[in-house]
Amino acid sequence: MTEPAFRDPSLPVADRVEDLLARMTLAEKVGQMLQLDARDDLADHVLRRQVGSILHTSPERLLVANELTSRTRLRIPLLVGEDCIHGHSFWPGATIYPTQLGMAASWDPDLLELVARATAVEVAATGIHWTFSPVLCIARDLRWGRVSETFGEDPLLIGELAAAMVRGYQGDGLTDPTAILATAKHFAGYSETQGGRDASEADISRRKLRSWFLPPFERVAREGCRTFMLGYQSMDGVPITVNHWLLSEVLRGEWGYRGTLVTDWDNVGRMVWEQQVQPDHAHAAAAAVRAGNDLVMTTPLFFEGALEAVELGLLAEDAFDDAVRRILTLKFELGLFEDPRLPDAERQRAVVGAPAHAELNLEVARRSLVLLENDGTLPLRTDAPVRIAVVGPLADDAQTQLGDWAGGSGQAGWLDGQPREMITTVLDGLRDLAPAGSSIAFARGAEILTLEPDPEGTHFPDGQPRPPVVEPAAVDDALLAEAIAAAEASDVVVAVVGDRIEVVGEGRSTATLELLGGQVALLEAMVATGRPVVVVLLASKPHVLPPCVRDAAAVVWAANPGMAGGRALAELLLGLVEPSGRLPISFARHAGQQPTYYNQIRGQHGSRYADLTQAPAWAFGEGIGYTSVEYTDLALETSEVGPDDTVTAEVTVRNTGSRPAHETVQVYVHDVVTSVSWAVKELKAFRRVVVAPGSAERVRVSVPVAECTIVDADGRRVVEPGAFELLVGRSSRDGDLLRARFDVRG
Ligand code: BGC
Repeated sequence: MTEPAFRDPSLPVADRVEDLLARMTLAEKVGQMLQLDARDDLADHVLRRQVGSILHTSPERLLVANELTSRTRLRIPLLVGEDCIHGHSFWPGATIYPTQLGMAASWDPDLLELVARATAVEVAATGIHWTFSPVLCIARDLRWGRVSETFGEDPLLIGELAAAMVRGYQGDGLTDPTAILATAKHFAGYSETQGGRDASEADISRRKLRSWFLPPFERVAREGCRTFMLGYQSMDGVPITVNHWLLSEVLRGEWGYRGTLVTDWDNVGRMVWEQQVQPDHAHAAAAAVRAGNDLVMTTPLFFEGALEAVELGLLAEDAFDDAVRRILTLKFELGLFEDPRLPDAERQRAVVGAPAHAELNLEVARRSLVLLENDGTLPLRTDAPVRIAVVGPLADDAQTQLGDWAGGSGQAGWLDGQPREMITTVLDGLRDLAPAGSSIAFARGAEILTLEPDPEGTHFPDGQPRPPVVEPAAVDDALLAEAIAAAEASDVVVAVVGDRIEVVGEGRSTATLELLGGQVALLEAMVATGRPVVVVLLASKPHVLPPCVRDAAAVVWAANPGMAGGRALAELLLGLVEPSGRLPISFARHAGQQPTYYNQIRGQHGSRYADLTQAPAWAFGEGIGYTSVEYTDLALETSEVGPDDTVTAEVTVRNTGSRPAHETVQVYVHDVVTSVSWAVKELKAFRRVVVAPGSAERVRVSVPVAECTIVDADGRRVVEPGAFELLVGRSSRDGDLLRARFDVRG
């Protein structure tokens, strides 16, 4: 029997797609649009519903799924997806990097491209073709549970870092055997929900979307990101899944995006049981198909619903063809019909958790750390033994250090955590690197939380488990006394505090931002000993630190810093590396200040609360090193420019201290008068420079005038001629910025 044309690799992909599509039954087409959970009944998924894709599959079940596929009529290979969002998160022994928020503190797209490349190499060896990364949501409300998954609060930084990760994942194109599909998610506005509550209605206008939330997505669409995942929330009453304006007019229309869309988890079903905007799965399926969705994630009843929709006349038989074409195109381009890219044990031994990836991970972890305060206690001296009290519930908590979507974080059922020996905690790091003869005493000092069953039940209506309710732990006097004794017998205290996975992630937003449990009492007791206290905030997001931290010697922020985080922190504390991270997100002083992002709209009565400043505790872009740096002599090349010109300036960055300066020169633009209210300033460029002690560099920065835009009242992105200011300096704080005026000619 001759093979059908679609099996002939010498034919163009488009011809193979059309040949296969013509052979498919309606049920096969509907099944092709489904992406189902591999932890459920695989035989039913593959043989009855004829799924096109699976996610969350353990190594063993992946082989089962492929065997089942070989028994289907057309033997269409499966597309296998996973959330490999900061490393190959759920693969035992894979390299786990800092969370996206931690990586963002490096402000270094090239470094993130390397991370994504190394991740793709590991992922591709394990039979997975597609990662649901990067996240392009803008984190504005710190109470939201998913802040750690984001690149922070600034659209430009998000777009640049995300584009770099897309390049890294997708490598040299899909025929590259180490390439995996990237996903831009969650399109769009998902993070802007009410009160930080996950996936609630987002009160967000189209103009606001165009102003800040869409630009990072447009950036990665241009970068060739092959898939987009849709958010959970509704806007103006319309769930994203059926938002015709966003999907058809903007994404596929204005941006000309030709990639593949995937819904988020049961978005189609949620329209029935959660948002209650569709009466049943037939109507929900019809609406989702009409809106242009391609893959439907984990709504098994989409299968029955879509078939019924055709019977009822809600959809024509060919309504599925475009989606199926796009899905098959991906499979042909990946070459899955010739080689389904099954797990390759030999390759896994060579690349998963490879030493070169561990080295890269250590570098990323170092670069993810942000030194926020230092009275000169840091770096700790290394020329003589030192007595260090390492205290705090996170000083030696290996799995928590990895953060969300990793090992034991709970999203995958088949592993509890990553191998302990691959992870260095702060305690491990200091034990390994402190000068010979030093003594390191460890005391946990406090507990963070306890868990209670949710009184509303153990499961949500769709069968997903409800997270337990978090109760802050009480102060434990015995633990506290141990920590005080350790501190009193030491020269310096390193207190590692933060949060735990139970208050991080989906459906786990927090009402408060304070350190939970006995941690505040621990910090107060440590400061009261009179010893210098170095506070290490190892946490998924910016927390509100207690007033006693004003009397601490230093504060370091380490967003969950991954497997190498403890070593990187020890190196930083001991001055073996220079602190170089900068905040990708602002820190609040109080949860009631939310939101605290820097690029707020101007126009408000006054500039503070009656009882509190509006200023953040630490602002976007802040971070210090072990040296002192001055910015002077900002000079524009020309102060009058036309719409097609580039604004170019030079600034002197002088290292007035005795250690190397690793600076991130930040360039913001302030549009003096705008036709509609606009952000007080916006980041437009950044450049990393290293300046040797005692020397100065003249640093050249530039911003194309075409980037000096606002979104006008009609939703159009335009440059409005007139006066602007270029602001250059070391953070978004006004006091850190030099200003120079330029005029844009009409
Ligand atoms: C999350 C996505 C994730 C998907 C698959 C959803 O609940 O919102 O970010 O990719 O699950 O795990």
